[in-house]
Amino acid sequence: MTMKSHVSAKKLSRIQCNIDRHWVGNGFPVRSLFTYPKLGAITSPFLLFDYAGPLDFPPTNERLGVGEHPHRGFETVTIVYSGEVEHRDSSGGGGKIGPGDVQWMTAASGIVHEEFHGRDFAQQGGLLEMVQLWVNLPAKDKMSPPRYQTILNSQIPSAKLPDDQGSVRIIAGEFDGLAGPAQTFTPMHIWDLRLTIEEPITFTVPEGYSTLLAVLKGSIQLDHSTSISAAEMAIFDLAGDHIFIDRAQNATALLLCGKPIDEPIVGSGPFVMNTQEEIHQAIADYQSGRMGHLSS
Ligand code: MN
Repeated sequence: MTMKSHVSAKKLSRIQCNIDRHWVGNGFPVRSLFTYPKLGAITSPFLLFDYAGPLDFPPTNERLGVGEHPHRGFETVTIVYSGEVEHRDSSGGGGKIGPGDVQWMTAASGIVHEEFHGRDFAQQGGLLEMVQLWVNLPAKDKMSPPRYQTILNSQIPSAKLPDDQGSVRIIAGEFDGLAGPAQTFTPMHIWDLRLTIEEPITFTVPEGYSTLLAVLKGSIQLDHSTSISAAEMAIFDLAGDHIFIDRAQNATALLLCGKPIDEPIVGSGPFVMNTQEEIHQAIADYQSGRMGHLSS
C-alpha cells in the first residue's frame, strides 16, 4: 500500500512586499511583488507580478501608457480592477478591458504591442488599479504562434464561499467544480478572491504546485500570527495540498497556483527564454522586424 499524505498544509515560505513604485511608460505606476531573476525557481510558472496603482489620474487628452514594444517566450496576463486598458498587437489581437476583465496575451514566438489607458477613461480621469502577471511557457511552446484571449467579467464564473465568507472568481483552472475560461499551456489555477473570514478556512491547492497569495486590499491572517495586507504577497512551499486562512477583513486577493516548469529561465527585458543564445536571437529577430509591427 502506498501511503500518500493528504493532510499537510503548505508552509508559508516568505512574504514579499515592495514599497518602491516605478513607472511603466507614463501610465502604469507599478510595484513589482516578485520578479523571476530573484524568485523564478520558487514561483514558476509565474515570472513576475506587477501591481499598478491604485492611483487617481486627472482627466487628460494625452495617451497614457507604453508604446510599441516586443515580447517573446511567455504570456502577459492583465487583470483590471479599476479603470480601462487598451491594447493592440502585431498579430491583430487587441481590445479594451475594464473592471473585472482580463486580457491573456500569449507572446510565444513574438509580438509587438502597445498598452494604454482607454481613451474615454483617460479623458474622464479616475482610479487605475490593475495587475500584470507574466506566465512562463515551457520550452516546447515558446516558439508557437501568438494568441490573444479577451476574457470579460461576464465570462468568469464566481463561486460563493459558505457562511458569507466571500467569493472566488475563477480566471483559470478550477474551483469547486467551476472551470475558469483562460486556456493555459501548463496546469494552473488563478482565483480572484473577495474574503471576509471570521473562522479559519482551508483552500485546497495541488501538492507540488507553486502557490502565491497577493493581497490588494484589506488584510489576511495566515499561520495565526502572520498578517499580510495591501501590496504584500505570501509565497508557500511546494509541499502540502492546502493552505489555511485564519481571518480576512474585506480582502481582495489573487491566488496563483501552478505546476512548476522545471527548465532554465534566461531573460532580458521583454524576452524570457531558456538560453542566452535564444535571447540573442530574440533581440535580432525583433530588430530585423520579424516580430512584426503595429499598423499605424
Ligand atoms: Mn507589454
